[in-house]
Amino acid sequence: MSTSETVDFPICSCPCGNGKIIKSVTTQDNPWSSADIDYYIGCNDCSKVWQIEYQSLVSREEATAAKKAANDYWSSRENLLSLINPLADNYFERLSAPSMAAEHREMCRLGISSSDIRNYRRLRNSGQSFSSICDPLRNAGWVKELISGSELHVEYEALFAAMNDADANKRQAEKAIKRLPIIGSIPRTRY
Ligand SMILES: [Zn+2]
Repeated sequence: MSTSETVDFPICSCPCGNGKIIKSVTTQDNPWSSADIDYYIGCNDCSKVWQIEYQSLVSREEATAAKKAANDYWSSRENLLSLINPLADNYFERLSAPSMAAEHREMCRLGISSSDIRNYRRLRNSGQSFSSICDPLRNAGWVKELISGSELHVEYEALFAAMNDADANKRQAEKAIKRLPIIGSIPRTRY
């Protein structure tokens, strides 16, 4: 059984000034393992407000808000796709391409393919729908054409606007996250 040794180094003060940010280095007692370096906040108050990501202190509240905004964006995107996907499936069904390769070529021509031909065949053979193998939102012009031939125009505009709003909120929430780089004796590379 191998043994390890952990040494903690205080490297700078925490934001409130009553504690320290600690660098924790764990080395294994063998020649082939490299050291594990971890950082933690050695202050009860600050660790409630901050978390550490990539050698920066990040506001927990703002990180949570950004995560929620990102989830809201992805669900607004799903809402929009649930309207578009049946139309996309219908497009490829009516196309009745002579082979899977021809279906895949059409997806590539439209710029909506999200897999290579091998993967495409595998997914189609496993019974996946056309819309689940492509990303219709990559070609806004094509989607507009699909919608204009249906009676879903008003609903589409509303869902599209909701997705754009959610996207703007997501970006704003990401930008709003306060990040304080941990300044101290931080090695540039792991050793
Ligand atoms: Zn503190």
